[in-house]
Amino acid sequence: MSMRIQSIRGMHDVLPPASGALRYVEQTMQAVLQQYGYQEIRLPILEHTELFRRSLGTVTDIVEKEMYTFEDRNGDSLTLRPEGTASCVRAALQQGILFRQPVRLWYGGPFFRHERPQKGRYRQFHQLGAETFGLAGPDVDAELIIMCRHMWQRLAILPRASLQINSLGTLQARQRYRAALVEYFRQHERRLDDLEKQRLEANPMRILDSKNPELAEIIGDAPGLTEYLDPESAEHFEGLQSLLDAAGIDYDINPHLVRGLDYYSKTVFEWIVPEQGSQATICAGGRYDGLVEQLGGKPYPAAGFAVGLERIMALLEETWNSDTEIDAYLVLVGDQAVLAGMQLASQLRDHFPSLSVVVNCGGGSIKTQMKRADKSNAKLAIILAEDELRDNTVGIKFLRERREQETIPRDNLVSNLDKYLGA
Ligand code: ATP
Ligand code: MG
Repeated sequence: MSMRIQSIRGMHDVLPPASGALRYVEQTMQAVLQQYGYQEIRLPILEHTELFRRSLGTVTDIVEKEMYTFEDRNGDSLTLRPEGTASCVRAALQQGILFRQPVRLWYGGPFFRHERPQKGRYRQFHQLGAETFGLAGPDVDAELIIMCRHMWQRLAILPRASLQINSLGTLQARQRYRAALVEYFRQHERRLDDLEKQRLEANPMRILDSKNPELAEIIGDAPGLTEYLDPESAEHFEGLQSLLDAAGIDYDINPHLVRGLDYYSKTVFEWIVPEQGSQATICAGGRYDGLVEQLGGKPYPAAGFAVGLERIMALLEETWNSDTEIDAYLVLVGDQAVLAGMQLASQLRDHFPSLSVVVNCGGGSIKTQMKRADKSNAKLAIILAEDELRDNTVGIKFLRERREQETIPRDNLVSNLDKYLGA
C-alpha cells in the first residue's frame, strides 16, 4: 500500500457536527448583515501579491512572514488572500461601484496565513467581514459595532465579549505619536527582544501589538495615542463614544490598541473574549480612509471589520448541540418496499421543503435498518415492510421519545407528519 497523503499543517477538514456549527454561525451573522442592508460580494481567493504589499504595508506581520505567495505559470507573483479588505477595495474600484452611493458590503470564506498553528490560529481559517464606503462620520463606525453586538446576541456569546476602542487619528497625528513612541522604547531598548528592536526602526506601533508577555509592562507604560490626536479625529472619537453610550454599549478605551495593519485611521476597535488568551480577538475593525487612495482611487472614507469564525466556533463548542438534523429515516424491507419508499420520500420532500428524509440504502433486515435509523439521529423511523406494503400503511417509530409505535394509512402520512415530528 502506498503512503496516505495528509492535509497541509494548519489547514483542516471541517467535519460534522463542526461543519453544522460553522454553517449556523455564518447564517446567523449573514441574517444580521441583511437586516442592516449589507450585500454580499464574492471575491477571488487569489490576488496579485502587489495588492497586499501595497495595502497592508511591507513591514506588517502578514506581508513579512505570513503570506502564501507563489509564481503563476507565466511568472506573475500571486498570493492566497490573507484578509479581505484589500480585495474588497480592489473589486469596488475595478467594478466602478465605489463612488456610486454609500456602499455596504459583506464577504466571507477561507483566508490563508502561514502562522504557527494552535487553537484559534490556523493557516486556513474563515472570516466574515463587512465594509462600508463613502461614509465619513462616526455614525457608521457605531453602526458596525452595534451590528457586531447584534451578532453576538444572536449567537448567545454577548456576555463573554467585550469591546475595546481607540482612535489612530490622522497620518500626521500618528507620525507625532510615532516619534514619541520611538523615544520611549529607546529608553527601554535593553528590555526589547531582537524582533521588537527591528520594529522600533520599521514600525514602532507594532510593538504595542506584541503578544510577548514579558513586554506587557513596558507596553502598559508607553504613551497612548489619545494625547496626540488631531482635533478632527478627537471630535470624531467623541462622536463615536456618544453613539455607543446612547446604544447602551459598554466599551473600554485602550490607548494602545493599534491593530497590526497599516491602513487604519481614526476609529479602531476589537471585540475580545479575554479567557481565550492570545487568541482572544474575535473581531477586529476600524476606519481606513486612506486605503482607497493607496490602491489607486481618490481619497475616500471607508470602514469595516472582520470576524474570525474559528474563534467564534471555539466559544460555541460548549453550547453547540449537535442535535439531529435528520427528521425521518425510511426503513424499507424488500425490493417492492424500496420502489414504493423512494417515491414516498420524494413526496415528503416536495411537500415539506425543509424536511430531511434519509432513505435506507443497501438493504438489510428490519433489525439492521432500525439500528441504522437510530444511529442516523433521525427523530422518526418510517417503516415499510411486507405487512405495510400489503395493507397500504406505514409504521411510525419514535426514536427520540417514549411513545408507542403507530401504524397509519400511507395516504395519511403527509397530512400527519407535522404532528409526529412535534413541529
Ligand atoms: P491576531 O492578533 O490574533 O494575530 P490579527 O490582528 O492578525 O489577529 P486580523 O488581520 O485583524 O487579525 O483578522 C481579523 C480576525 O481574524 C482576527 O481578530 C481573528 O479573529 C481572525 N484571525 C486572524 N488570523 C487568524 C488565524 N491565523 N486563524 C484563525 N483566525 C484568525
Ligand atoms: Mg495575526
